[in-house]
Amino acid sequence: MKVTAAVNREKSQPFTIEQLELDAPRPDEILVRIVGAGLCHTDLTIRNNPLVLPSVLGHEGAGVVEQVGEGITKVKPGDHVVLTFPSCGRCANCQQGHPAYCVRSFGLTFSGVRPDGSTTLHKEGEKIHGNFLSQSSFATHALTLERNAVKVLPDAPLELMGPLGCGIQTGAGAVFNSLQARMGSSIAVFGLGSVGLSAVMAAAVVRCSKIIGVDINPARMQMAKELGQPTSSTPARPTRFRRSRRLHVKG
Ligand SMILES: [Zn+2]
Ligand SMILES: [Zn+2]
Repeated sequence: MKVTAAVNREKSQPFTIEQLELDAPRPDEILVRIVGAGLCHTDLTIRNNPLVLPSVLGHEGAGVVEQVGEGITKVKPGDHVVLTFPSCGRCANCQQGHPAYCVRSFGLTFSGVRPDGSTTLHKEGEKIHGNFLSQSSFATHALTLERNAVKVLPDAPLELMGPLGCGIQTGAGAVFNSLQARMGSSIAVFGLGSVGLSAVMAAAVVRCSKIIGVDINPARMQMAKELGQPTSSTPARPTRFRRSRRLHVKG
């Protein structure tokens, strides 16, 4: 199908908006119409230090499932999804509940091709690298994998949900899962960008007693003060990151 995408053709140059051809989904792939996508620092890092060219970046996509391969059971056309990082689901780290440390992560994230070496995107015979974090969501449509797609409620604001797939879960997950901060803890967050502010929100959710934000940007400091305020209805002890959806709604 024809799609419009932001293509990284040259190191450190602006993306070019181009019409490309996107493959139909294979049995293990999901076609998503992208509604919104976050711009993460990793996108800019790779744009400025490309591993493969030309390519389509974007790894905080959110959208609506349009088509699924015959092997897909988790989502169906019409479902609203947020796309996140890829993992194989089969290696020891994935099996032990640590997909962020998947041994196949690098290839699934940065190779620009499917595991068999094919590209999902083309332009008049030219191969365009896709599969960035197994999604390449800087486009009107993206092909992704079942483990990348997280179904969300149909009334969730899809245009805002994309950053849950990387920046928000990185900051909030650090507080909930890595630090396992609990009610009454003190916490200091250095850097109040989207990742740091997500950590501040998570600290408020678990009711840390003292939340210290460190930044040189007064506007960010002000935002941190607002987001770091606990509300009477915030849950005291979220034990897993899945609570982050509630966090986002409140944020
Ligand atoms: Zn990211
Ligand atoms: Zn794995």
